[in-house]
Amino acid sequence: MSERQRIALHYALYKIEAVLLKGDRYECCCCGKSSRRFLSHGNLGLRRNIKCPHCLSLERTRILCMYIRNEVFKDTEKPLKVLHFAPVKGLKDFLRQSPYVGDYRDADLNPNVATYQVDITQIPYEDNSFDLIICSHILYCVPEDRKAMQEIHRVLRPGGRALIVDTIEGDTTRELGHLSKKELQEVYGDEATCRVYGRDITEILGSYGLKANIIDYVKQLSPEFIEKECLSDAFDAEIIDCIKQ
Ligand SMILES: [Zn+2]
Repeated sequence: MSERQRIALHYALYKIEAVLLKGDRYECCCCGKSSRRFLSHGNLGLRRNIKCPHCLSLERTRILCMYIRNEVFKDTEKPLKVLHFAPVKGLKDFLRQSPYVGDYRDADLNPNVATYQVDITQIPYEDNSFDLIICSHILYCVPEDRKAMQEIHRVLRPGGRALIVDTIEGDTTRELGHLSKKELQEVYGDEATCRVYGRDITEILGSYGLKANIIDYVKQLSPEFIEKECLSDAFDAEIIDCIKQ
């Protein structure tokens, strides 16, 4: 079975699960569908009730989706040109269907998970091409992350935005090249982990012309919304909102 077929089967199985979880207790802002509970997910121990069975969005994706809806689209005067790296299904479908998005490109190194095969350290688009770039949980596993930041800056139009989501721990970014794959898997849940960013990521991005703010957006959402969307245990969900200077 090819990887593409495996992915299709994976989605088909989730569709059955979504039917079994029919209900209205929880709602997903990415796909707009409801269910009586969400699915479990996690590389380092399962976390319960966090993944939408319809579009497979995690809390961080639902938070990012709300942020885009409330904080990015509100300033939109004409449909945006969007480049979305490592696209997850829920957010991909949401953006594709949005009237605020005129040109949507989903991109990944792996051609089986996105329409456009793109290396984030060598983006095959012209300077100043995009209004919005989305890059969730990617930079931590890109060996040449600084090159990726440079490229994101290059293809964004002046004033354009990049929304970056990644694990942020402490004040200072730690490179992890000294750890073995086994250690990385055990400690960080992903053997491809190159680093854990600290809050100094804003300075690093700033040095590449991206004015960055770290936003804990879940704190700005209402308790009712947090309960309905199952966001209370949100994990790795801070959004780094960058504007090209
Ligand atoms: Zn959903």
